Amino acid sequence: MLDDLLGRAGLAQARPRHGRTLQQARSEALKQLTPHEPAGPCKPLTGSEITANGVHWFRTPGWEKIDWLWHGFSTRIGGSSRTYAVDGPQGELNLGFTREDDPEVVRRNRALMAEAISGSADTPIATLRQIHSNLVVVVRRADAGCIPLPKADGLMTADPGNLLGVQTADCTPVLVADRRRRVVAAFHAGWRGTVHRIVESGIGRMRLEFGSRPEDLLAAIGPCIRLCCYPVGEEVLSAFDSQFSYARELFVEIEATNPVRARYPAIFLNQRAPGHGVEPHRLHLDLVEANRRQLLASGVPPRSIRVVGGCTSCHPQLFFSHRASRGRTGRMMSVIGIRPAH
Ligand SMILES: [Zn+2]
Repeated sequence: MLDDLLGRAGLAQARPRHGRTLQQARSEALKQLTPHEPAGPCKPLTGSEITANGVHWFRTPGWEKIDWLWHGFSTRIGGSSRTYAVDGPQGELNLGFTREDDPEVVRRNRALMAEAISGSADTPIATLRQIHSNLVVVVRRADAGCIPLPKADGLMTADPGNLLGVQTADCTPVLVADRRRRVVAAFHAGWRGTVHRIVESGIGRMRLEFGSRPEDLLAAIGPCIRLCCYPVGEEVLSAFDSQFSYARELFVEIEATNPVRARYPAIFLNQRAPGHGVEPHRLHLDLVEANRRQLLASGVPPRSIRVVGGCTSCHPQLFFSHRASRGRTGRMMSVIGIRPAH
Protein backbone atom coordinates (compact mmCIF):
# COMPACT_ATOMS: atom_id res chain seq x y z
CA MET A 1 0.00 0.00 0.00
CA LEU A 2 2.65 2.48 1.04
CA ASP A 3 4.80 1.24 -1.81
CA ASP A 4 2.03 2.14 -4.23
CA LEU A 5 1.71 5.58 -2.74
CA LEU A 6 5.41 6.19 -2.77
CA GLY A 7 5.55 4.95 -6.30
CA ARG A 8 2.81 7.31 -7.39
CA ALA A 9 4.54 10.10 -5.52
CA GLY A 10 7.63 9.52 -7.61
CA LEU A 11 9.58 7.80 -4.87
CA ALA A 12 10.21 4.54 -6.64
CA GLN A 13 13.90 5.37 -6.69
CA ALA A 14 13.85 5.05 -2.93
CA ARG A 15 13.79 1.27 -3.18
CA PRO A 16 16.57 -0.68 -1.41
CA ARG A 17 20.03 -0.36 -2.79
CA HIS A 18 23.46 -0.97 -1.37
CA GLY A 19 22.04 -3.11 1.38
CA ARG A 20 19.66 -0.54 2.78
CA THR A 21 16.36 -1.85 3.94
CA LEU A 22 13.17 -0.63 2.39
CA GLN A 23 12.33 1.10 5.63
CA GLN A 24 15.57 3.06 5.57
CA ALA A 25 15.02 4.01 1.98
CA ARG A 26 11.48 5.19 2.64
CA SER A 27 12.57 7.15 5.63
CA GLU A 28 15.37 8.91 3.80
CA ALA A 29 13.17 9.69 0.83
CA LEU A 30 10.42 11.13 2.95
CA LYS A 31 12.85 13.18 5.00
CA GLN A 32 14.35 14.65 1.85
CA LEU A 33 10.93 15.63 0.65
CA THR A 34 9.87 17.26 3.86
CA PRO A 35 11.01 20.87 4.02
CA HIS A 36 10.01 21.54 7.61
CA GLU A 37 11.92 20.33 10.61
CA PRO A 38 11.88 16.66 11.57
CA ALA A 39 10.12 15.82 14.78
CA GLY A 40 12.19 16.30 17.86
CA PRO A 41 11.61 17.51 21.36
CA CYS A 42 8.53 19.68 21.55
CA LYS A 43 9.16 23.35 20.93
CA PRO A 44 8.44 25.88 23.67
CA LEU A 45 4.86 27.02 23.87
CA THR A 46 3.98 30.11 21.91
CA GLY A 47 1.38 32.72 22.68
CA SER A 48 0.81 34.45 25.95
CA GLU A 49 -0.82 32.54 28.72
CA ILE A 50 -3.35 34.59 30.61
CA THR A 51 -4.98 33.82 33.91
CA ALA A 52 -8.33 35.27 34.86
CA ASN A 53 -10.78 33.86 37.43
CA GLY A 54 -8.52 30.79 37.66
CA VAL A 55 -8.83 29.97 33.96
CA HIS A 56 -5.51 29.66 32.13
CA TRP A 57 -5.80 30.41 28.43
CA PHE A 58 -3.69 31.35 25.45
CA ARG A 59 -4.01 34.49 23.44
CA THR A 60 -2.72 34.95 19.89
CA PRO A 61 0.20 37.40 19.88
CA GLY A 62 -0.89 40.69 18.32
CA TRP A 63 -4.60 40.04 18.47
CA GLU A 64 -4.95 41.91 21.76
CA LYS A 65 -4.61 45.10 19.70
CA ILE A 66 -7.91 44.43 17.93
CA ASP A 67 -10.29 46.10 20.33
CA TRP A 68 -13.51 44.62 18.93
CA LEU A 69 -12.28 41.03 19.07
CA TRP A 70 -12.73 38.41 21.77
CA HIS A 71 -10.77 35.19 21.47
CA GLY A 72 -8.84 32.56 23.40
CA PHE A 73 -7.66 28.95 23.56
CA SER A 74 -8.43 27.22 26.85
CA THR A 75 -6.12 24.85 28.70
CA ARG A 76 -7.16 22.24 31.27
CA ILE A 77 -6.20 24.58 34.12
CA GLY A 78 -9.02 26.25 36.04
CA GLY A 79 -12.61 25.19 36.63
CA SER A 80 -14.04 22.61 38.98
CA SER A 81 -14.16 19.33 37.10
CA ARG A 82 -12.59 16.43 39.00
CA THR A 83 -13.26 13.69 36.48
CA TYR A 84 -9.95 13.71 34.62
CA ALA A 85 -7.71 15.15 37.30
CA VAL A 86 -4.78 12.86 38.02
CA ASP A 87 -3.75 14.34 41.31
CA GLY A 88 -3.85 17.45 43.41
CA PRO A 89 -6.79 19.30 44.91
CA GLN A 90 -7.43 21.53 41.91
CA GLY A 91 -10.43 21.14 39.66
CA GLU A 92 -10.04 21.28 35.92
CA LEU A 93 -11.58 23.15 33.03
CA ASN A 94 -13.31 20.40 31.09
CA LEU A 95 -15.51 22.27 28.61
CA GLY A 96 -17.04 19.30 26.82
CA PHE A 97 -20.22 17.43 27.81
CA THR A 98 -18.35 14.15 27.88
CA ARG A 99 -19.91 10.89 28.97
CA GLU A 100 -17.92 10.83 32.20
CA ASP A 101 -18.29 14.38 33.50
CA ASP A 102 -21.15 16.04 35.35
CA PRO A 103 -23.06 18.36 32.94
CA GLU A 104 -23.64 20.89 35.71
CA VAL A 105 -19.89 21.15 36.34
CA VAL A 106 -19.26 21.55 32.59
CA ARG A 107 -21.86 24.34 32.43
CA ARG A 108 -20.11 26.12 35.29
CA ASN A 109 -16.76 25.71 33.55
CA ARG A 110 -18.16 27.16 30.35
CA ALA A 111 -19.44 30.17 32.24
CA LEU A 112 -15.93 30.65 33.68
CA MET A 113 -14.44 30.47 30.19
CA ALA A 114 -16.98 32.99 28.87
CA GLU A 115 -16.12 35.28 31.78
CA ALA A 116 -12.36 34.89 31.26
CA ILE A 117 -12.62 35.88 27.60
CA SER A 118 -15.50 38.37 27.50
CA GLY A 119 -15.69 39.66 31.05
CA SER A 120 -19.18 38.22 31.57
CA ALA A 121 -20.19 34.71 32.56
CA ASP A 122 -23.48 35.31 30.74
CA THR A 123 -21.93 35.66 27.28
CA PRO A 124 -23.43 32.74 25.34
CA ILE A 125 -21.07 30.28 23.64
CA ALA A 126 -22.41 28.74 20.43
CA THR A 127 -21.11 25.22 19.94
CA LEU A 128 -21.59 22.32 17.55
CA ARG A 129 -22.06 18.59 17.41
CA GLN A 130 -18.71 18.04 15.74
CA ILE A 131 -18.70 15.28 13.15
CA HIS A 132 -15.33 15.62 11.32
CA SER A 133 -16.99 17.13 8.25
CA ASN A 134 -16.55 20.23 6.11
CA LEU A 135 -19.94 21.64 7.14
CA VAL A 136 -20.12 25.15 8.53
CA VAL A 137 -23.03 27.11 9.99
CA VAL A 138 -23.69 30.83 10.25
CA VAL A 139 -24.68 31.80 13.79
CA ARG A 140 -27.01 34.69 14.56
CA ARG A 141 -27.15 36.30 17.96
CA ALA A 142 -30.39 34.54 18.80
CA ASP A 143 -29.01 31.09 17.88
CA ALA A 144 -26.22 31.01 20.42
CA GLY A 145 -26.77 28.29 22.98
CA CYS A 146 -29.68 26.74 21.08
CA ILE A 147 -30.51 23.06 21.39
CA PRO A 148 -30.24 20.77 19.46
CA LEU A 149 -26.79 21.71 18.31
CA PRO A 150 -26.16 21.79 14.58
CA LYS A 151 -23.99 18.99 13.22
CA ALA A 152 -21.02 20.76 11.69
CA ASP A 153 -17.34 21.55 12.24
CA GLY A 154 -17.20 25.26 11.63
CA LEU A 155 -19.21 28.26 12.68
CA MET A 156 -19.10 31.94 11.86
CA THR A 157 -20.88 35.14 12.76
CA ALA A 158 -20.97 38.87 12.14
CA ASP A 159 -23.24 39.45 15.15
CA PRO A 160 -21.63 40.86 18.26
CA GLY A 161 -22.24 39.62 21.79
CA ASN A 162 -21.70 35.88 21.58
CA LEU A 163 -18.75 33.54 21.41
CA LEU A 164 -18.27 30.73 18.92
CA GLY A 165 -16.58 27.65 20.36
CA VAL A 166 -15.01 24.50 18.94
CA GLN A 167 -13.96 21.68 21.26
CA THR A 168 -10.77 19.71 20.92
CA ALA A 169 -8.49 17.29 22.75
CA ASP A 170 -5.80 16.78 20.03
CA CYS A 171 -7.67 17.92 16.91
CA THR A 172 -6.68 21.29 15.46
CA PRO A 173 -8.70 24.38 16.35
CA VAL A 174 -8.46 27.23 13.83
CA LEU A 175 -9.79 30.72 14.57
CA VAL A 176 -10.25 33.30 11.83
CA ALA A 177 -11.08 37.02 12.07
CA ASP A 178 -11.92 39.38 9.22
CA ARG A 179 -10.54 42.63 10.56
CA ARG A 180 -12.21 44.78 7.91
CA ARG A 181 -15.74 43.39 7.87
CA ARG A 182 -15.73 42.25 11.49
CA VAL A 183 -16.63 38.63 10.93
CA VAL A 184 -15.27 35.77 13.04
CA ALA A 185 -15.11 32.01 12.52
CA ALA A 186 -13.97 28.90 14.38
CA PHE A 187 -13.14 25.53 12.83
CA HIS A 188 -12.51 22.04 14.21
CA ALA A 189 -10.00 20.16 12.06
CA GLY A 190 -9.00 16.64 12.97
CA TRP A 191 -7.37 14.63 10.23
CA ARG A 192 -10.71 13.73 8.68
CA GLY A 193 -12.01 17.30 8.71
CA THR A 194 -8.68 18.44 7.30
CA VAL A 195 -8.97 15.94 4.45
CA HIS A 196 -12.50 17.29 3.88
CA ARG A 197 -11.01 20.81 3.71
CA ILE A 198 -13.00 22.28 6.56
CA VAL A 199 -10.84 25.43 6.67
CA GLU A 200 -10.93 26.03 2.92
CA SER A 201 -14.68 25.42 2.85
CA GLY A 202 -15.16 27.70 5.83
CA ILE A 203 -13.25 30.59 4.32
CA GLY A 204 -15.15 30.11 1.07
CA ARG A 205 -18.35 30.47 3.08
CA MET A 206 -17.06 33.66 4.74
CA ARG A 207 -16.48 35.13 1.31
CA LEU A 208 -19.93 34.10 0.13
CA GLU A 209 -21.92 35.15 3.20
CA PHE A 210 -20.05 38.24 4.27
CA GLY A 211 -17.91 39.32 1.35
CA SER A 212 -14.73 38.64 3.33
CA ARG A 213 -11.51 39.19 1.40
CA PRO A 214 -8.71 36.72 2.17
CA GLU A 215 -6.14 39.50 2.51
CA ASP A 216 -8.15 40.94 5.42
CA LEU A 217 -8.20 37.66 7.33
CA LEU A 218 -6.14 36.83 10.40
CA ALA A 219 -5.86 33.19 11.44
CA ALA A 220 -4.62 31.34 14.51
CA ILE A 221 -3.97 27.62 14.75
CA GLY A 222 -4.30 26.54 18.38
CA PRO A 223 -2.97 23.80 20.65
CA CYS A 224 -3.26 20.37 19.04
CA ILE A 225 -1.33 17.16 18.65
CA ARG A 226 1.81 17.98 16.74
CA LEU A 227 4.03 16.07 14.39
CA CYS A 228 6.15 14.81 17.31
CA CYS A 229 3.30 12.78 18.83
CA TYR A 230 0.99 11.91 15.97
CA PRO A 231 1.72 8.57 14.34
CA VAL A 232 -0.95 7.64 11.83
CA GLY A 233 -1.79 4.64 9.68
CA GLU A 234 -1.14 4.36 5.99
CA GLU A 235 -4.84 4.94 5.30
CA VAL A 236 -4.35 8.51 6.49
CA LEU A 237 -1.52 9.07 4.01
CA SER A 238 -3.71 7.51 1.35
CA ALA A 239 -6.60 9.85 2.17
CA PHE A 240 -4.40 12.97 2.03
CA ASP A 241 -2.67 11.74 -1.09
CA SER A 242 -6.01 11.51 -2.87
CA GLN A 243 -6.84 15.14 -2.02
CA PHE A 244 -3.72 17.27 -1.91
CA SER A 245 -0.85 17.65 -4.36
CA TYR A 246 1.36 18.55 -1.39
CA ALA A 247 0.24 15.58 0.75
CA ARG A 248 3.70 14.05 1.02
CA GLU A 249 5.03 17.27 2.55
CA LEU A 250 2.70 16.79 5.51
CA PHE A 251 4.16 13.46 6.61
CA VAL A 252 7.46 12.45 8.12
CA GLU A 253 8.60 8.92 8.78
CA ILE A 254 10.09 8.65 12.24
CA GLU A 255 11.98 5.82 13.88
CA ALA A 256 9.91 4.26 16.61
CA THR A 257 11.65 4.37 19.97
CA ASN A 258 12.41 1.26 21.92
CA PRO A 259 13.39 1.99 25.52
CA VAL A 260 14.95 -1.46 26.08
CA ARG A 261 17.06 -1.10 23.01
CA ALA A 262 18.12 2.41 23.95
CA ARG A 263 19.28 1.15 27.33
CA TYR A 264 21.01 -2.07 26.27
CA PRO A 265 22.24 -1.44 22.75
CA ALA A 266 24.98 -4.09 23.03
CA ILE A 267 22.46 -6.90 23.35
CA PHE A 268 20.85 -5.92 20.12
CA LEU A 269 24.19 -5.45 18.43
CA ASN A 270 25.18 -9.03 19.22
CA GLN A 271 21.88 -10.77 18.79
CA ARG A 272 20.55 -8.98 15.79
CA ALA A 273 19.37 -11.41 13.17
CA PRO A 274 20.21 -10.54 9.58
CA GLY A 275 17.59 -8.20 8.18
CA HIS A 276 16.13 -7.41 11.58
CA GLY A 277 18.47 -4.67 12.63
CA VAL A 278 16.32 -1.66 11.95
CA GLU A 279 13.76 -0.19 14.27
CA PRO A 280 10.25 0.10 12.86
CA HIS A 281 9.38 3.46 11.37
CA ARG A 282 6.06 5.17 11.67
CA LEU A 283 4.41 7.86 9.64
CA HIS A 284 3.69 11.06 11.54
CA LEU A 285 1.23 13.68 10.32
CA ASP A 286 1.69 17.43 10.69
CA LEU A 287 -1.85 18.74 11.15
CA VAL A 288 -0.65 22.28 11.85
CA GLU A 289 1.11 22.45 8.50
CA ALA A 290 -1.86 20.81 6.77
CA ASN A 291 -4.19 23.52 8.02
CA ARG A 292 -1.68 26.28 7.38
CA ARG A 293 -1.56 25.10 3.78
CA GLN A 294 -5.36 25.39 3.57
CA LEU A 295 -5.26 28.92 4.92
CA LEU A 296 -2.61 29.82 2.34
CA ALA A 297 -4.60 28.11 -0.42
CA SER A 298 -7.56 30.27 0.61
CA GLY A 299 -5.48 33.41 0.11
CA VAL A 300 -4.70 34.27 3.73
CA PRO A 301 -1.29 36.01 3.75
CA PRO A 302 1.47 33.97 5.45
CA ARG A 303 2.24 36.86 7.83
CA SER A 304 -1.38 36.78 9.05
CA ILE A 305 -1.21 33.16 10.23
CA ARG A 306 -0.12 32.43 13.81
CA VAL A 307 0.47 29.12 15.55
CA VAL A 308 -0.43 29.30 19.23
CA GLY A 309 0.20 27.01 22.19
CA GLY A 310 2.00 23.71 21.75
CA CYS A 311 1.59 19.98 21.40
CA THR A 312 -1.31 18.70 23.49
CA SER A 313 0.31 15.29 23.94
CA CYS A 314 3.71 16.72 24.99
CA HIS A 315 2.10 18.87 27.70
CA PRO A 316 -0.41 16.67 29.55
CA GLN A 317 -0.37 18.91 32.60
CA LEU A 318 -1.56 21.84 30.52
CA PHE A 319 -3.79 20.33 27.85
CA PHE A 320 -6.33 17.54 27.51
CA SER A 321 -5.01 15.03 25.00
CA HIS A 322 -7.04 12.17 23.62
CA ARG A 323 -3.93 10.22 22.67
CA ALA A 324 -1.94 10.93 25.81
CA SER A 325 -4.92 9.84 27.95
CA ARG A 326 -5.83 6.88 25.75
CA GLY A 327 -9.24 8.24 24.93
CA ARG A 328 -10.50 9.16 28.38
CA THR A 329 -10.12 12.90 28.59
CA GLY A 330 -11.85 16.25 28.79
CA ARG A 331 -12.21 18.89 26.10
CA MET A 332 -10.64 22.27 25.63
CA MET A 333 -12.42 25.05 23.82
CA SER A 334 -11.19 27.63 21.35
CA VAL A 335 -13.49 30.64 21.23
CA ILE A 336 -13.85 33.79 19.17
CA GLY A 337 -16.43 36.56 19.13
CA ILE A 338 -17.22 40.18 18.46
CA ARG A 339 -17.32 42.53 21.42
CA PRO A 340 -20.52 44.61 21.44
CA ALA A 341 -20.07 48.36 21.05
CA HIS A 342 -20.24 50.17 24.37
ZN1 LIG B 1 4.26 16.20 21.01
